[in-house]
Amino acid sequence: MSEHLDSFAMAQQQLATVATKINLDPNVHEVLKHPKRELTVNFPVSMRDGSIKMFTGYRVHHNLARGPAKGGIRYHPDTDISEVRALAFWMTIKCAVVNLPFGGAKGGVACDPKQLNAAELEDLTRRYTTEIAILLGPDKDIPAPDMGTNGQTMAWIMDTYSMLKGTTVPAVVTGKPIAVGGSEGRIEATGRGVVTVARETLLSRGGQLPDSTVAVQGFGNVGAAAAKLFYRTGCKIQALSDVQGAIYNKNGMDILAVEDWVKKTGTVIGFPEAEALDPAALLLLPVDLLIPAALQNQITEANAAQVKARYVIEGANGPTTPIADLILASNGTIVVPDVLANAGGVTVSYFEWVQGLQSFFWSESEVNAKLEQIMVRAFGQVNAAAKKHNCDLRTAAYIVGVGRVAEAITALGIFP
Ligand code: NAD
Repeated sequence: MSEHLDSFAMAQQQLATVATKINLDPNVHEVLKHPKRELTVNFPVSMRDGSIKMFTGYRVHHNLARGPAKGGIRYHPDTDISEVRALAFWMTIKCAVVNLPFGGAKGGVACDPKQLNAAELEDLTRRYTTEIAILLGPDKDIPAPDMGTNGQTMAWIMDTYSMLKGTTVPAVVTGKPIAVGGSEGRIEATGRGVVTVARETLLSRGGQLPDSTVAVQGFGNVGAAAAKLFYRTGCKIQALSDVQGAIYNKNGMDILAVEDWVKKTGTVIGFPEAEALDPAALLLLPVDLLIPAALQNQITEANAAQVKARYVIEGANGPTTPIADLILASNGTIVVPDVLANAGGVTVSYFEWVQGLQSFFWSESEVNAKLEQIMVRAFGQVNAAAKKHNCDLRTAAYIVGVGRVAEAITALGIFP
């Protein structure tokens, strides 16, 4: 029987593993199995060739016991309701793992942003925002960027929501440009969190970051920021990839030069100081740290046994399937799960939200210092749970996260 790769089924399986391990109250388990609310919208966009195209978008709130809904918006051709449900569930757990006062949400539009021009993308974003506006608000639901969206997308969402309200509402989105109330340090926050957690993982196991070899799958918001910070810390970045292909240099690459190359050409492919690499082979390199920072379902039953990395630090959401987790563990590879490893993004989103509500802004060094504090604390708590329960770091992170959400659900009780 081959592995089931439906994202929400995978999330359910992860929850079930922990429910058994911690004797989770079956009533709370039942609540957590279901997203609280889901909105699917079909909406038209006028294309610049004169045609009208219909798009489908989603916004899912998984659980709001700990605070308003928080989660990114993804633009990707394969986005569907199952993926958005899973991502919303992971946000509930992630916010609890780093102890932020948010519930979990996610949104997405099935589209290929690379096939749309800027005007079409803006129209799509403004119409999608209008369609889901009944859910949004600084005290209700606060989106952020995810795959295929960025600060510009967030500025359009903020502006559309502000137009509907008749007043400027910066705190309705995070990950927006500094000019409209964004936070210093937000763009690289997820990558910074990945590097912090990688460092703590190595330190806790008698290692250190400098001189570690690294392979990064995905050179977008998360992957590029992580690669740059690993590089600055003295790591050797041997391999990088994006949707077009992968590159390799055994001696490591100058990430600032790669960045310049990508700015010029739009891809890592053809970077002069590296050779071409089969993208599938990137995941199997004998590196110290493998950073999946693109899509879900990358390390699966099919390739996990060939993974040679000592550590997998999940920059992406859901890159490792449950069966792959078992195979990696039996081969001694330590996986630092997404709900901990990539929580730096939502943490600085939380800072951005707080700054927006107070109209009082912090310096980049203040933001980075507070991020460091939260990530180190969360890693320590998850690592301690792993020792206490004699389990892997994913199970431990779920023990911490699910435990906090369960406590909130129980304290609130069931209405009416
Ligand atoms: P992005 O759109 O900025 O970048 C994605 C990168 O992955 C691009 O370089 C793209 O070319 C590459 N890519 C796409 N398909 C690929 C493939 N098949 N093989 C190799 N590379 C491929 O997206 P992002 O914001 O960096 O998000 C990446 C992952 O990190 C997603 O899983 C997202 O949910 C997760 N994440 C993002 C944030 C954030 O703050 N942006 C926070 C937490 C988690």
